[in-house]
Amino acid sequence: MLLGIDIGGSKIAYALADPAGEILARRRRPTEPTGNPEQDLAGIADDARGLLAQAGVGEGDLLGIGVSVPGPLDIDRGRVVRPPNLAGWEAVPVGKILQTEFGCPVALENDANAAALAEYRFGAGRGCQDLVYLTMSTGVGGGIILGGHLHRGRMGTAGELGHTPVEWPGEPCACGLRGCLEAYLGGVALTRRLRAQVPETSACVALAGSPEAVSTVHWVEAARAGDPWALAEMDRFNHHLAQAIVHLAFSLAPEVVVLGTIPIAAGDALCFDPVRKHVAERIWPHQAPYMKIVPAELGDDLAYRAGLCVALEAIGKD
Ligand SMILES: [Zn+2]
Repeated sequence: MLLGIDIGGSKIAYALADPAGEILARRRRPTEPTGNPEQDLAGIADDARGLLAQAGVGEGDLLGIGVSVPGPLDIDRGRVVRPPNLAGWEAVPVGKILQTEFGCPVALENDANAAALAEYRFGAGRGCQDLVYLTMSTGVGGGIILGGHLHRGRMGTAGELGHTPVEWPGEPCACGLRGCLEAYLGGVALTRRLRAQVPETSACVALAGSPEAVSTVHWVEAARAGDPWALAEMDRFNHHLAQAIVHLAFSLAPEVVVLGTIPIAAGDALCFDPVRKHVAERIWPHQAPYMKIVPAELGDDLAYRAGLCVALEAIGKD
C-alpha cells in the first residue's frame, strides 16, 4: 500500500492506495500549524495511522509514503526548508521523521511538481510523454515532465516557471526579482493590482461592494458579464500567460500544457481560446498542432493524487 500526504497551506489531504493507484481511503482536514513542526508532524502521523486503521491496513503493509509540500525543499536531505504557509517550519527533516515513524521509504516533492506528476499520471496529461503544468493560485507554480519523468534540474529548481520574466525590468516579484510571470498572474499580485486599478464604474466594484474587496473571482465574473475594464485586464493576463507558453514551446516543445486554477475559472472563451490564439501567432505553424493547451482535470482529487504520485517515487516508480 502507498500513503500520500499533501500538506497545503490551508488543508492536509491523506490518501491510501494500492500500487496501481486505486484509492482505498482518504481524509482531509485543516492544516492549522501550531508553530512547532515536531508537534505538527506527530499530528500528521496520528492522522495517517487513523487512515490505515480505517482501511484495515497494517503499518507493515506500507511500501512507501509520499509527501507533497510547498517549497523550497532540500530533496537530497528530505527536508522542508521554509514553506511560506507553515509557520515555524525551518529545515524540517520530514522524510527522516516519517521514515522513523513508519519504517518505510519516504519521498518529498514540492507541491507544483507533485501536481504535475498527478496530472501526467491521472489527469489531463494521461498518455503523453512531455508535459508542462502551470497553476496560478497564490503565486504561480509549475512542473515539467520530460520523457515520462519529472525534470528537477540542478538544485531542483527546474519548473519554477512563475519566475520566467515576461516584462523587463517589470513589476517587483515576491521572490526579489522583477518582471516575473508571478508578478502578473499570481493571485496575490493580481488581486493587489485589481484593487489598485479598478475604476468605480467597473462591475467588479458592484460585485465586491468596494474596490478594496475586489478578488479574482469578482474579476472573472465581471469579465464574463462583458465589463470592459475586466475584459481589458483579462487580455493583459492572457498576453502574459501566452508569452510564458511561447518560451516553453521553443525550449521544451511539450505535447501538453496543463493550466490550473484561474484559467479554469475563466474558461475557454475568456482565457483558453485567446491564449491558444496568441501562442499560435507566435510559434511556427508546424509546431501549433503538436502542443495542446488544456485545463487541468483533477480538481478536488488533485491533492490526493499528488501525494500518491510522490509515494510512487518513494518506491522507485516515478
Ligand atoms: Zn519571481
